[in-house]
Amino acid sequence: MTPPERPHPTGLETRLAKMIEACGPIGIDAFMAHALYDPQAGYYSTRLPLGARGDFTTSPEISQIFGELIGLWVAQSWLDLGSPAPFHLIELGPGRGTLMADMLRVCQRVPGFMDGVELHLVETNPPLREAQRAALGTIPAHWHQSLDEVPEGYSFIIANEFLDCLPVRQFVRGEQGWHEKLVGVDAEGRLTFGLGPALAEAPACAMPNDGVGAVREHAPGLPTLVEILAQRLRTGCGRALIIDYGDVSGQAGDSFQALFRHQKTHPLDHVGEADLTAHVDFAALISLAKTSGLGTSGPVSQREFLQSLGIEARRDALIRANPHCESDLTRSVERLIGEAHMGGLFHVVALESPLNAAHGPPIGL
Ligand code: SAH
Repeated sequence: MTPPERPHPTGLETRLAKMIEACGPIGIDAFMAHALYDPQAGYYSTRLPLGARGDFTTSPEISQIFGELIGLWVAQSWLDLGSPAPFHLIELGPGRGTLMADMLRVCQRVPGFMDGVELHLVETNPPLREAQRAALGTIPAHWHQSLDEVPEGYSFIIANEFLDCLPVRQFVRGEQGWHEKLVGVDAEGRLTFGLGPALAEAPACAMPNDGVGAVREHAPGLPTLVEILAQRLRTGCGRALIIDYGDVSGQAGDSFQALFRHQKTHPLDHVGEADLTAHVDFAALISLAKTSGLGTSGPVSQREFLQSLGIEARRDALIRANPHCESDLTRSVERLIGEAHMGGLFHVVALESPLNAAHGPPIGL
């Protein structure tokens, strides 16, 4: 059988292929960084990735209930920690601003919340910044390129489908030891996967029982991000809620994937035009957070988290008020909590300041 034809190379693929021919193969992390963040042609520099005409759909885009429940979590956390004011509500990678707008609708009902809040949105994508501005309407907000630009202060931080954009390196166990998986160029000048030479030592993410063919992934940016979170949370009370799809079992596997117009595609096709992600390694995230002195809760599945925040009761109340929407509401809540859907694939973790130790754990975890 002849393999399906590859789409024509994008301008960014041609540029990367020339660079690789000149300088040698690059790691998957470097490839992801170019494909996602190249200032002229990177996916997250140029595109509106979300929604029916984009490439993927996230939980807040499926149902307003998701953002409302996260709003409840933030408002309750703020009350639990003694209603500090002023305080920062920070979102990492806010997409179209839907999650923040839905959260604030709930938070606005909590006396004092809107008087003390300062909104900070960490977003690199100019078209998405515009969408966020439109979603927030008259509510004032500050935009930043990265979390370390946000001024110090009590912080409540939300990140939904943000960590899966972090570039990963991949390592493959061969007969002679471990190799890094690299992106090189084939005889036709197209990007192709290959393996680097055998490494002198197993990578830190390898496990003793990994057999030949096992693939391990490591996000070099994760320790830096956790340290930036930890510096912020150590100096004042606060909490971070991280929701993403990823692995909690510690199993080996290749999770590097590309989505182009809602379909999985080969990660080296549609370079700069497809969304690239890898699973979040929740075990690594929690261990880094603990080492940085943070308190941690979870991981729990998105299903358990949303159920314990009352998603079914909220769905039923909306159905009673809007009986004609019953099938839509039932279907969208099933996408959010179904075991085979996002409910089982996504997990939730909270990280918090060691100064919160006198308070109980956050709701839902
Ligand atoms: N949280 C949103 C969108 C998730 S998509 C939702 O749930 O709908 C990923 C988001 O992160 C996008 O807004 C993207 O532009 C942003 N993003 C990706 N990498 C980023 C980075 N390194 N710094 C800041 N924002 C980033």
